[in-house]
Amino acid sequence: MVISPIAVQQEPMVPVSTPSVSAVVPIYNEVESLPHLIEAISNILTLNCITYKIICVDDGSTDGSTELLRQIAATRRDVVAILLRRNYGQTPAMAAGFKYAQGEVIVSLDADLQNDPADIPILINKLYEGYDLVSGWRKNRQDAALSRLLPSKIANWLIGQVTGVKLHDYGCSLKAYRAELAADLNLYGDLHRFLPALAFIEGAKIAELPVRHHARRFGSSKYGLGRTLRVLMDLLTIWFMKKFLTRPMHVFGGLGMILMLGGIVIGGYLTWIKLGLGESIGDRPLLILVVILLLTGLQLFCFGLLGELLMRTYHESQNRPIYRVREIIGTNLNSV
Ligand code: UDP
Ligand code: MG
Repeated sequence: MVISPIAVQQEPMVPVSTPSVSAVVPIYNEVESLPHLIEAISNILTLNCITYKIICVDDGSTDGSTELLRQIAATRRDVVAILLRRNYGQTPAMAAGFKYAQGEVIVSLDADLQNDPADIPILINKLYEGYDLVSGWRKNRQDAALSRLLPSKIANWLIGQVTGVKLHDYGCSLKAYRAELAADLNLYGDLHRFLPALAFIEGAKIAELPVRHHARRFGSSKYGLGRTLRVLMDLLTIWFMKKFLTRPMHVFGGLGMILMLGGIVIGGYLTWIKLGLGESIGDRPLLILVVILLLTGLQLFCFGLLGELLMRTYHESQNRPIYRVREIIGTNLNSV
């Protein structure tokens, strides 16, 4: 099979400084793409005088990618291979890559050559305009219309509404991050799709740039329609984290109080009927409602209290501040 070369930027794109970059690539059964990908990343970064490491995370591949990676990493100084014990999924693979990344900038991209490494210097350039995260936008996305593009359009709209971070394309893996931001991001579930939203919660400045996108040349996609539901569940988590991470009592406690108040008012009304008017209330549906309102209200209230405890454990066990400082200017804090 003849392989057309990946478009290579002719002019160096990062003239001012030469940052050191880690390119993080999650790999699951991409044996045919791998050599082309590593060549393409290496060519474009060398051309732009960027010092780099390619952090390849093998996510339990079974098609020979693991063996190939072993060989490549043993012979090339610019490739680091991290072999996971089994297939964990794209998010854990990316998290592993972030953990072992070096340098000031981290760039993430897919291994299947759908992202174009030639876009990496453009993203880095944008990052150095003063952003913490630059996200790719697959303006001309080359995937199936009905099964991929439509769910993705709906998901992108929903994510924008819920998280308040307005991007066109959350699903694009091609992104550039400042290393210190990536270190602050804790990934679970399928949350790599929500990295911009998580970064926004951490106070990051975010930009989006159109990037190239190619149809898959080798292998097949690892996802089907099933991921739509997972995205929705993750979206709920993100919404909650963004709004109430540091104050769970406000949502659970508040809701519990409203329900209990309703129970008390209706209960008062029933008490008046029973004691004031002397009527029987044993067969009134309202009585059941009062019981349900009071019990669920009390439970939600207790959830709120538990949430407060958990939140304190979450922050304090990891020394995780509830704020992020961008810069401190003018005071030598050590001499105070
Ligand atoms: N991937 C992974 N672990 C998985 C599934 C996928 O590391 O369990 C990697 C895969 O090798 C690719 C990237 O995640 O580099 C994106 O996967 P894919 O191209 O199948 O997703 P799509 O582009 O179809 O959304
Ligand atoms: Mg892909």
